[in-house]
Amino acid sequence: MSETSPQKILIVDDAPINRKVLGELLKNEHMVIMAKSGEQGLEKAIQHIPDLILLDVMMPDMDGYEVLQRLKANPATMGIAVIFITGLDRPEDEARGLEMGASDYITKPFHATVVRARVALHLRLARQHRLLESLANIDALTEIPNRRQFDQTFAYECRRCARAGCALSIALLDVDFFKQYNDCYGHAMGDRALHSVASVLRYGLGRGGDMGARYGGEEFVLVMPDTDNIGAIMLADKLRYDIELLALPHKKSRAAGVITVSIGIATAQGEQLSFPENILKLADERLYQAKAGGRNRVCGEDE
Ligand code: GH3
Ligand code: MG
Ligand code: MG
Repeated sequence: MSETSPQKILIVDDAPINRKVLGELLKNEHMVIMAKSGEQGLEKAIQHIPDLILLDVMMPDMDGYEVLQRLKANPATMGIAVIFITGLDRPEDEARGLEMGASDYITKPFHATVVRARVALHLRLARQHRLLESLANIDALTEIPNRRQFDQTFAYECRRCARAGCALSIALLDVDFFKQYNDCYGHAMGDRALHSVASVLRYGLGRGGDMGARYGGEEFVLVMPDTDNIGAIMLADKLRYDIELLALPHKKSRAAGVITVSIGIATAQGEQLSFPENILKLADERLYQAKAGGRNRVCGEDE
């Protein structure tokens, strides 16, 4: 998202007049979504994942405290900033909301400038938070997802594929004779080669669900949800070939005269998805086989 694109605000209030006043105040600068009950607020929060929620405290059926509690209990919505809007102005009410995880408090009647200023502040914070979050997940050298992002995605996809009853494959890639490359061409050239290899992973993965990450050093990892072993081998071999086609000279390689990678693949299904570390271990064993078999090759289930 760019610095200037409009951010989404969800207004949850049972009183039509409050929704109207707040909506009028904010709609010129922001994208505004309305909900007229706590229940509907939760639904729309999950559906739209807004940047900020303005949440009325006093509502029939489900009050603002309960809505906040449920937002905080759901990983999909727990990061959304919430400002309580309320007629209650007793310090203990205010403290309770903040302790439960609200970001701020605005009391009725509204002062237009205060509402706008607080909303702007919390939207700015939300943007910065997201930026930091994305930086924390990107590897600085190769500009692709890092180990931290891989760990999160892999754990999530294992659970999701187990529920959906589909297979999940992963591939471990390791650059061949990379120590010799550094020794021969220098560490700076080595860094550049890693960046080039990473670019193949970034642009070469066809489907939205696939992810390539830097696993560490000169090793990379691919997560391929909903992909069986044969499909994973085909994809990995295409990437292996694309890396060879980069034609980065490597005169000390005994596998080829250019930079190449060896790849080990593991596929898991059902019960096996409960043990992500075993899946990684298997991929690592296959990677070892690919190395022992001559490098610049892919090892999957049948080899
Ligand atoms: P193999 O074909 O068996 O994988 O041999 P290899 O030389 O690639 O394996 P080894 O594990 O002995 O060496 C890995 C090398 O990768 C050593 C290390 O200096 C280099 N390396 C790891 N991370 C980086 C990095 O960020 N930049 C550079 N330039 N080199 C790195
Ligand atoms: Mg290695
Ligand atoms: Mg290596």
